[in-house]
Amino acid sequence: MTSQIDPWVRDILRCPVGQHKLLDDTNDAGEPILVCEQDCPTEGQRRSYPVRDGIPVMLADESTISAR
Ligand SMILES: [Zn+2]
Repeated sequence: MTSQIDPWVRDILRCPVGQHKLLDDTNDAGEPILVCEQDCPTEGQRRSYPVRDGIPVMLADESTISAR
């Protein structure tokens, strides 16, 4: 399964909270998401960002805290 996001877009995307890279994943509903590659420094946890219609929503307010 390949990402719906263009590789060059994925490459420049960074977590707006921790400024680190993001990994492709899917949520419990099977929808594509981007997950922090490492812990967000301010939270000690990772965030999941939704991808809507192939467009990553890189907003901290739209993200979901993930404890993994
Ligand atoms: Zn992060």
